[in-house]
Amino acid sequence: MSELVDTFGRAHHDLRVSLTDRCSLRCTYCMPADFADWIPGPELLTTDELMLVLEVATGLGIDGVRLTGGEPLLRPDIVEIVRMINDLPSPPKISVTTNALKLAQLAGPLRDAGLERVNVSLDTLDRDRFKAMTFRDRFNDVLAGIAAAQAAGLAPVKVNSVLMRGVNDDEAPALLQRALDQGWRLRFIEQMPLDAGGQWLRSTMVSADEIFEQLSALYTLTPVPSRGSAPAEEFYVDGGPATVGIIASVTRPFCAACDRLRLTADGQLRNCLFARDELDLRIALRDESLSPDQVRAEVERRLRLVVKDKLPGHGINDLNFIAPTRPMSAIGG
Ligand code: SAM
Ligand code: SF4
Repeated sequence: MSELVDTFGRAHHDLRVSLTDRCSLRCTYCMPADFADWIPGPELLTTDELMLVLEVATGLGIDGVRLTGGEPLLRPDIVEIVRMINDLPSPPKISVTTNALKLAQLAGPLRDAGLERVNVSLDTLDRDRFKAMTFRDRFNDVLAGIAAAQAAGLAPVKVNSVLMRGVNDDEAPALLQRALDQGWRLRFIEQMPLDAGGQWLRSTMVSADEIFEQLSALYTLTPVPSRGSAPAEEFYVDGGPATVGIIASVTRPFCAACDRLRLTADGQLRNCLFARDELDLRIALRDESLSPDQVRAEVERRLRLVVKDKLPGHGINDLNFIAPTRPMSAIGG
């Protein structure tokens, strides 16, 4: 049972932890190619600080932890972090969202350390497009990373795809066919206004309905019942058992069932991807006037506070919506 229940009755079970804001790609919907506004090293939570937060959070009912970023596999002690999370008194389920560039090297060690699941981002099956979308010629490394994850038993690998108008919006059926052939579990995510360059436009966004129509031209999609707090609307493909997911974050928000909190790499708690405010945990973790027990108590108090302050929804569809100042890469996707 989670003790982190907000004023709308939503119990929080899931913590998204950003391990770094740095990344080895520059996906245009996430980070501008010349981005340089990095979090200074001393502001990043140390692994000990992170583990203290996770110990408190799991004690309050957080039972799922997703490691993300930026690119979480750039964190030098990522394998050790997974092992330490598994050794917590109430170990949560651990997953990682990654661009897979380092997965060929790390899938086995991560699995041995207790990682259960991995989500990989891949938006195109064309090497030149990949290069244009990410500013790096690393398409083959992603495929090698996915294969290594499957070979290591991190299966089924979930693959996340964002479609952008005029860039890769013709690739939904091909991505699904590749997923069916390779045993990936594919999910399309509507592009959200979280790019540091502020380029997102609702008028050009590829919507969930459009993706559904594109896929339906070639496949029979039947809704999978019981979505729970999962963000994706899942569909059986041609009767199943394979499924495809569509995450309609913008056009059909799932805030009413949201059970997530987020911790940025510099120790700021967020109760929503689109929150305008953050609550500083780092300041409590580094307060030398507090004893270790008092630090724990303060972290707990702040976790409860950020949950209490959670709004009913992200408000993307409100006329006065203002996007958060940090890009997705710094918030942690
Ligand atoms: N670097 C890792 C990766 O790409 O998987 C983890 C971090 S990334 C921010 C997490 C997820 O957020 C990725 O699946 C990415 O496609 C998605 N994402 C980033 N910016 C987005 C945006 N503006 N709209 C929708 N999804 C976005
Ligand atoms: Fe990096 Fe992931 Fe953002 Fe792409 S989506 S720039 S891989 S953090």
